[in-house]
Amino acid sequence: MKKVLYPGSFDPITKGHMNIINQASRLFDEVIIAVMKNNNKKSSFFTISERVKIIRKLYKDNPNIKVITGEGATCDIALKNGCYFIVRGLRSLSDYNYEVELNQFNKEISNNQVNTICFFADREYQFTSSSGVKEVYSLKKDISHYVDPYVLDQMKKKDK
Ligand code: ADP
Repeated sequence: MKKVLYPGSFDPITKGHMNIINQASRLFDEVIIAVMKNNNKKSSFFTISERVKIIRKLYKDNPNIKVITGEGATCDIALKNGCYFIVRGLRSLSDYNYEVELNQFNKEISNNQVNTICFFADREYQFTSSSGVKEVYSLKKDISHYVDPYVLDQMKKKDK
């Protein structure tokens, strides 16, 4: 059984992330989404457990998509969960520059056990990011093109 780890902040999960999950699930038997506790990102919209709950709900009918939380080195989380691959999404050259470095670290610190594969964002979501979604939402503009209706619903609930 081929498993892949998809680590990220997912604050919130966007249709861009869902597109990558969809592409990865065509290649792997199981996709494990790891909501990472990232100390560098200060301002969060949803707590880690809220994000996990939301993603679990979105994929409740997909037994080959799992959701976990992760802390520390991504390659350790991958290995602990039986994944020799990490999947990441590429939108632009700036994503590439970041991912190429991350891949190198994960490969080296795991003694070449963990490799990263990247999928390209679909054109429709090439400019979709969680931070952009939060910004547009805070301006009280429509974000329904970028997130699942359930995610939007949860964002509205959080505002109340
Ligand atoms: P991180 O804080 O690790 O960048 P994100 O949740 O922002 O976490 O993103 C997780 C991964 O998903 C990254 O590889 C990012 O490039 C990718 N990603 C984010 N948005 C999109 C999108 N719209 N299309 C394709 N990949 C995306």
